[in-house]
Amino acid sequence: MKILITGGCGYIGSHTAVELLNANYEVVIIDNFSNSKRDVLDKIKVITGKNFSFYEGDVCDKEILRQIFSENKIDGVIHFAGFKAVGESVSKPLMYYRNNLDSTLSLLEVMNEMNCKKLVFSSSATVYGDCHETRFVETIKKGTPSNPYGKTKTMIEDILEDLYHADPTWSITMLRYFNPVGSHSSGLIGDDPSGIPNNLMPYILRVAVGQLECLTIFGNDYDTPDGTCIRDYIHVVDLAQGHIKALEQLLNNEPKIRIYNLGSGQGVSVTEIVTTFEKVNNLKLNYKYGARRNGDLPAICADPTLALKELGWKTTKTLEDMCRDSYNFIIKNSQNKN
Ligand code: NAD
Ligand code: UDP
Repeated sequence: MKILITGGCGYIGSHTAVELLNANYEVVIIDNFSNSKRDVLDKIKVITGKNFSFYEGDVCDKEILRQIFSENKIDGVIHFAGFKAVGESVSKPLMYYRNNLDSTLSLLEVMNEMNCKKLVFSSSATVYGDCHETRFVETIKKGTPSNPYGKTKTMIEDILEDLYHADPTWSITMLRYFNPVGSHSSGLIGDDPSGIPNNLMPYILRVAVGQLECLTIFGNDYDTPDGTCIRDYIHVVDLAQGHIKALEQLLNNEPKIRIYNLGSGQGVSVTEIVTTFEKVNNLKLNYKYGARRNGDLPAICADPTLALKELGWKTTKTLEDMCRDSYNFIIKNSQNKN
């Protein structure tokens, strides 16, 4: 089976490419390196010992998509390509709406033309918006995300629902990720944002290797056991394996539209992640408690029951694994840069 991965050089896409190749799928990647580096291609080959096809280009460009579908018999698509920085989406909304919506529409139109109607889409827990539940189950009504990035995910989910209702020969699975962290155990691929990171784990890593001075924990006066926010962190390799399960279901069953939460179901506080990171990596992090960050909800956690029931998927990696593997990646990556 040949699978097209859009955005396959990025953080989650590269880990998914590795898992697909390990599971003996043929892989075709399209990426324009807007948020990734070319050397990821070689790293995927080193990790898997396998080859795959690569097209450098923009998923908004229907011509290159037509070329890919003409040159390859694509059985299914996993669509990761898109911009994902919440803060940047607030300052550059048009860029986010253009890239995330346009790439998806172009992809869907060309898939339709080429009669390839099997799609796995990277959605996000952000679509639950500011809903006041602390444990999110797929049947909760979507909320309103507070930023343009989140809104693009909600809009794309709506587009996919409309498409399926108009043409039920489509098979669509929307995966709502919780907080992906960690790296492949080789330390070769991982999350490597440019500039000052916004997300917790990339920030911790920069402090751990001395590139940033101090982590500020945003708020310790929440109504949670230790006062800091709770999130559901998921190891990226578990997440990538969730895609393989979703794809297998999609390729082997009747067309349907499906939604699954991909999370561990375990809430972890910011303080817990910091202390676990210190313990497993045997180091001290410089951190302080600061003011709450605007828009943060106190506690968010997945209910992953449906993914277990229908996909036979659940997370296997621990918080210790996430902290160890993340650090291993930054150590190898900062050594490479020196
Ligand atoms: P990433 O930025 O590391 O990867 C995205 C990849 O897509 C990059 O390699 C980038 O160069 C490429 N890309 C972007 N726009 C493109 C375009 N128009 N044409 C071709 N390539 C393009 O992001 P990631 O963390 O791997 O996330 C993958 C997907 O998962 C995204 O859609 C993101 O919104 C979603 N998601 C991520 C998280 C997270 O915390 N990382 C959480 C929920 C959902
Ligand atoms: N956080 C923090 N300091 C930072 C970055 C994040 O305390 O420098 C907290 C943030 O308030 C949230 C958690 O870490 O409670 C996860 O934040 P992240 O931005 O990684 O993911 P989110 O769940 O907000 O999308």
